[in-house]
Amino acid sequence: MPFAYVMLKKLEFSRHTPEARGFMYWERVSEQIYLFTSDRYALVNSVAVVTDRGTIVVDGLPFPDEAKQIARFLEIRSGVDFHSLILTHHHMDHVYGLFAFPNHLDVISSELCRQRLLEVGEASLAEARESDPAFEEVSIRIPTITLESGELIIDAGNMTLRLFPLPGHTADNIGVMIEEDDILITGDAVMAIPIIADGNWEQEIETLQRIRDLEPDTVVQGHGEVILRGEVKTVMNEYISYLHCVRKEAELALKKGRDRKEIWDIPLERCGLERVPLGIASHQLHVANLLSIYDRLKAEREG
Ligand SMILES: [Zn+2]
Repeated sequence: MPFAYVMLKKLEFSRHTPEARGFMYWERVSEQIYLFTSDRYALVNSVAVVTDRGTIVVDGLPFPDEAKQIARFLEIRSGVDFHSLILTHHHMDHVYGLFAFPNHLDVISSELCRQRLLEVGEASLAEARESDPAFEEVSIRIPTITLESGELIIDAGNMTLRLFPLPGHTADNIGVMIEEDDILITGDAVMAIPIIADGNWEQEIETLQRIRDLEPDTVVQGHGEVILRGEVKTVMNEYISYLHCVRKEAELALKKGRDRKEIWDIPLERCGLERVPLGIASHQLHVANLLSIYDRLKAEREG
């Protein structure tokens, strides 16, 4: 999700109005894997992998009360200690909730993610606190173990987690493959509406192609429902063609001399996706995608 410090300014998302507040819910992806989803924040996901050596948490939900509920739930339910925390990328809706887990735990991410958090983490948090005092108790967990390139393997006894870069949504995004279950946790490399406004269109298409060709049994995307066996290929192709459409529409708007404001009139449905999955933010996210391509092409054109 691009609700990093930049996007908070650009998109007026009504997450702090009472009527926008929903619920957090959880489900089991497999025997050992729990998925937590925030209804309050564009169906953002947090995943817990319960292993022989402790529970590994991948991303935290943004709101403190939700994050604390998850930590408590896992303590009671799993009957094991926490092993470590993994952060897929630096966007705040994945970062903030990590504060609720024990302080001594390592936080594992890409090296780029660590750098981005050092650069923008505190400023983003200050801004979030201004719009919602609930963020007062959050502190940013800076990663302690990082992956520069290639892969990082976590041997957790009965489970093996393989971490590797999946850039595009952001440059720092990584995926987590749970080898025994063939389940891929993608961070925002995959989400119900692919978002490249804070990232790179070409890289995101390559990443989606790579995931499609990997053909994991299950994909846990950064936002939205789990993608099950047999659906992975179809859904990845849908997302890829959505991004091609975004580019085509942005090119067309530019060619016809339309200005930025008119980009708002290009519906998401024209590019084959529905507004429903991410609720009220869907159209804004789609427009952010279009504008990022439009601005880039315009800048290139103007040399
Ligand atoms: Zn994101």
